[in-house]
Amino acid sequence: METCEVLVVGGGPAGSTCAGKLVQAGLDVLLLDKETFPREKLCAGWITPAVFAALELDAEEYRQGRVLQDISGFRTGLIGGAEIVTDYGAIVSYGVRRYEFDHYLLQRSRICRQLGQTVTTLDWKDGWWLVNKHIRARLLVGAGGHFCPVARLLGASIGHEEVVAAQATEYAMSPAEEQQCSVRPDTPVLFFCRDMKGYGWMFRKGNWLNIGLGRRDTHSLSRHTSDFCRFIEQQGGLPGGLTGRLRGHTYRLYGGEGRRRCVGDGALLIGDAAGVANPDSGEGILPSLESALLAAEVIVAANGDYRRDNLEPYAERLKSHFGSSNPSLSPSQVSSQISCYLGTKLLSNSWFTRHIVLNRWFLRR
Ligand SMILES: Cc1cc2nc3c(=O)[nH]c(=O)nc-3n(C[C@H](O)[C@H](O)[C@H](O)COP(=O)(O)OP(=O)(O)OC[C@H]3O[C@@H](n4cnc5c(N)ncnc54)[C@H](O)[C@@H]3O)c2cc1C
Repeated sequence: METCEVLVVGGGPAGSTCAGKLVQAGLDVLLLDKETFPREKLCAGWITPAVFAALELDAEEYRQGRVLQDISGFRTGLIGGAEIVTDYGAIVSYGVRRYEFDHYLLQRSRICRQLGQTVTTLDWKDGWWLVNKHIRARLLVGAGGHFCPVARLLGASIGHEEVVAAQATEYAMSPAEEQQCSVRPDTPVLFFCRDMKGYGWMFRKGNWLNIGLGRRDTHSLSRHTSDFCRFIEQQGGLPGGLTGRLRGHTYRLYGGEGRRRCVGDGALLIGDAAGVANPDSGEGILPSLESALLAAEVIVAANGDYRRDNLEPYAERLKSHFGSSNPSLSPSQVSSQISCYLGTKLLSNSWFTRHIVLNRWFLRR
């Protein structure tokens, strides 16, 4: 029987960050992930400088031997419509490859006890969690993404929740494809669906191309993705085509209907498992890190007594950090009719695009 104080389920940005902080505080932590790292993760890999600040990490240190694409502008508009180019003249964001980024964070967190193992069973016995019938833990930290087993344990009705559904792919372009691709690496493409329920993106990071589309309405995802890809192809942005490359994934945005319960006796949720992604842009990496850091503080302060009352401050801090409402003029707040109107009228306006769409929704400046 293996024993630990805290068992972290999932080694993505949330899990590795929380586990790293707990190890630093001297706790005995075991991290389980069903994958062995480095692993592929479906994601655009767009991050803001705030991610490096949250990680107390120097971007230049990260850049050594890894892909870190500087971003200084965006091409935006409605799918099929005219575009606006917003140039900031300075770095406002970065592109990373999750394959490298998540592996780097896991290694940096210096967790000695890690296992490539899927968590399949969680039972409560004699004051301990019994995980997969052979690991004992006092506290479970659920960082296993949207389908995390700890979220299920805390009552999440996975499959019946409001989610964002996305299809995406990332692949290395051939030298010929790189030459033909009309999208500049420092100026990615963000084009919205006409009903403003989602958007497609195309990022270049070195010779890697990442393209996808996410929507709050899951029903016609493939049609919207095809429309977007065709549009980009017509503009010369997608030289090799995408046949068979797209994969799908769902996750929760913060503040939607029926929020997940994030705290229970001897258990809490962080990252996508808690559903903390930004409701306007779908950005999930920074909120995952922030929730992980908040959770680690509360766990350390609980000083070994992980009853729900002692973990409840985490739920309160999540609420005060992420708030209960979204910024005004946010597409997640207004009705679909107003959204359509906003989309058609305002996305062709340079001021609105720079100050509201980019600065407020995406860059949170
Ligand atoms: C298509 C797409 C594009 C996105 N683009 C962006 C973007 O550009 N920028 C951004 O900020 N966010 C983006 N996001 C959101 C972002 O990917 C997530 O918010 C982020 O990965 C959440 O981190 P996490 O650590 O909570 O979970 P994850 O990164 O999902 O990590 C969870 C880990 O748990 C493991 N796991 C799951 N179940 C089990 C189990 N039963 N047992 C053991 N291990 C388990 C998994 O293998 C995985 O490694 C995107 C999401 C999608 C779907």
